Amino acid sequence: MNGSEECFDVVVVGGRCAGAATGLLLARAGLRVLVAERSAQGSDTLSGHMIKPDGVGRLAAWGVLPDLLASGCPPVTGAEFTLDGRREPRPEPVPGALPPMAPRRTILDRLLQQHACDAGAHVRHRSTFRGWRAGAVSLDGGRQVRTRLLIGADGRRSAVASAVGAPYTDRRPGRSCAWYGYWDGAALTGLRAELRPGVFAGAFPTHGEQVLAFVQLPVTGWRHDHGEQDYHAGLRRCPTIASALAGARLPGRLLGAKDLPTYFRQAAGTGWALVGDAAHHKDPLAARGIADAFLGAQLLAEHVLRGWDHDFDQALRCYAADLIRLLAPTAELNDQLAGLDQPTTRTRAALHALWAAEHQIATGPPAARGRRTRQHRPSGSTVNRPGEPR
Ligand SMILES: Cc1cc2nc3c(=O)[nH]c(=O)nc-3n(C[C@H](O)[C@H](O)[C@H](O)COP(=O)(O)OP(=O)(O)OC[C@H]3O[C@@H](n4cnc5c(N)ncnc54)[C@H](O)[C@@H]3O)c2cc1C
Repeated sequence: MNGSEECFDVVVVGGRCAGAATGLLLARAGLRVLVAERSAQGSDTLSGHMIKPDGVGRLAAWGVLPDLLASGCPPVTGAEFTLDGRREPRPEPVPGALPPMAPRRTILDRLLQQHACDAGAHVRHRSTFRGWRAGAVSLDGGRQVRTRLLIGADGRRSAVASAVGAPYTDRRPGRSCAWYGYWDGAALTGLRAELRPGVFAGAFPTHGEQVLAFVQLPVTGWRHDHGEQDYHAGLRRCPTIASALAGARLPGRLLGAKDLPTYFRQAAGTGWALVGDAAHHKDPLAARGIADAFLGAQLLAEHVLRGWDHDFDQALRCYAADLIRLLAPTAELNDQLAGLDQPTTRTRAALHALWAAEHQIATGPPAARGRRTRQHRPSGSTVNRPGEPR
């Protein structure tokens, strides 16, 4: 080992909901983990940030939920879904399910990073992944880190996926674009969503007593310079959302996104794995990105720990296969709905199938639901903490 090199069992690139959660679980199980995150601590990211109940359940299982509640994030109580002007009955919640929550990412990601640090992970901000070769990770400034496992949790434009040559196994162009903004003074405590041919809009409470209201439109109609006009026109087409915002103010600027493809990448290979958006991305319509990133983190951590002392490559392959098996059904239905172009009867059928598939995720086998990761010190743990005697 070169004197300037560091060693970690696992290097996680990207420190938001997928990366910080994976780092937290692996560090808690006794592995020496480095989380390298390019952005500054507490920075924001483009995201609608509604976390579905199974995702909130994982935050509870990981011990993060009390801090999130203490941060002033309101639980989203109740949900109303209107389809083509008619209130759509929703399935009964899974028994024992927690309400969804929609924390600002500046707060959620920081809390996950804090819990990862508390578990013993080294979380470094302003640290950028540059390359990977034969067990050595290059970070900026020419810093080299030796590791047994490189995890790419670095989002859609994953540099890790490029470095390891992870191919797309399924890739479809984005079908919708989204605009969203934060409103003051809207007395909304639950989720309201309304879907009509050509538009999907919704609103829910978040931190700071604000309400996030979004509008999704077919991507073919994207007009970068007319976002405000298109957003307000979309809200007017969805009276249940417009009425929830009556008398409220939109103090800040709108945020917009139009490049929202659906894809799966090969999520593991020898010595590497991908998790979160790096492994799988979809349109935000079903608001499953964060809950799925948590599911991926839990699944990856369980397979890594199970395989650490045995057949590690096989464990990583199982993770990749399980991830697709668990997430493909919701991704397929979400993609269908995101076109915003089906007759109402087909939309209704897809919507109910999506809710049933989400129910399946929330009640599926324990690995999918995410039981508490047991404390575990893998015997093959390769290195000491930096600075510790070997
Ligand atoms: C408009 C929009 C609305 C959405 N709404 C919702 C919603 O309501 N609910 C929901 O659940 N999901 C939603 N999503 C999806 C959700 O935001 C993502 O699925 C989620 O952020 C994925 O988390 P991640 O940790 O995988 O990736 P990210 O949050 O993208 O984090 C990746 C991190 O990697 C870091 N990184 C990248 N490259 C490097 C590098 N070379 N070196 C070091 N670090 C690097 C980045 O700085 C970043 O912090 C929405 C997305 C969009 C675009």
